[in-house]
Amino acid sequence: MTDDGVRVGDVAAPAPAAGEVLLRVETVGVNQLDLNVIAGAGPGAAARLPRTLGLDPAGTVAAVGAGVDANLIGSEVVAKPNIPCGHCRWCGEHRESECPAQEVLGVHRDGGACEAVAVPLSVVFPRHGLPAATATAAVHSVPIVLNAFDAADVRVGERVLVTGAGGVLGRVALDIGRHLGTSVTAASRHPVPDLPAGVREIVTGPTSDLAGAVTPSDRFDVVIDTSGSAALLAQAVALLGWCGRAVFCAASVDADLHVDAHAFYLQRRRLVGVASATFDQVTRGLELVRQGAVHVPIAQRFPLDDIHSAYAAFAAPRHGKVIIDV
Ligand SMILES: [Zn+2]
Repeated sequence: MTDDGVRVGDVAAPAPAAGEVLLRVETVGVNQLDLNVIAGAGPGAAARLPRTLGLDPAGTVAAVGAGVDANLIGSEVVAKPNIPCGHCRWCGEHRESECPAQEVLGVHRDGGACEAVAVPLSVVFPRHGLPAATATAAVHSVPIVLNAFDAADVRVGERVLVTGAGGVLGRVALDIGRHLGTSVTAASRHPVPDLPAGVREIVTGPTSDLAGAVTPSDRFDVVIDTSGSAALLAQAVALLGWCGRAVFCAASVDADLHVDAHAFYLQRRRLVGVASATFDQVTRGLELVRQGAVHVPIAQRFPLDDIHSAYAAFAAPRHGKVIIDV
């Protein structure tokens, strides 16, 4: 096997500090940020190695630190990856996704790809009956897409184009768009498996030729880009109508985006980048999954001892999250 930079080993069990809980982990997801940590690239460069990976652990509260209600022990919970500082102007306005001092589980501190992890109580959410794997799959992906829709200030009946619709975030965006009563168009290189009813599909082909695949009259009120491709985003932005909004929420986005600034001015367009999510968006996102309004596909599951296979599966073409069972 080639060296993927990951080691499985025994470490001392953490103790929850004041304001923290100790989570007995059942599941954790594989995410692009894990690969960034391993490579020391992009947002992963903030990690000091060795680091226990794992952004989105779900499990049961096993112990509590000082100042935390001991009645929480035994609660089924999931942890939100981004940990806001709780003190800044943005945190004070409940805009936790915009906290400039937020830390990330598995990047700035040890994450949940292990049997037990200590996390601040502030980022621990009740599962309300959701299975651990479902909660792990949902806790990052659904709230960030909700954040994108919130940023777009989307209205019932608006025409929403989702680019990168074949990926996990894209698939979630199709469900949220439908749930919000918008007219949803999915753009993807390949046909989207299990395309939700009522969603129109544009298959762009392997070169992501969106401009060549739309009809001349296609215009959209909102673009939700989950692809991370600047070339695709630029094509989508060009399809915005009057007062159109484009929001991108891919973890790895190209740097060079070319847009027609003149059209932005004349057409009153907006372009927004969103990352992470507020506490409120996490609560709403988990509830949408619990209600069945949003489905997060799970492609494959692997035991922790076989974490190397989980990372290999993540890198291969897939439809859904890769989950590690601890
Ligand atoms: Zn803050």
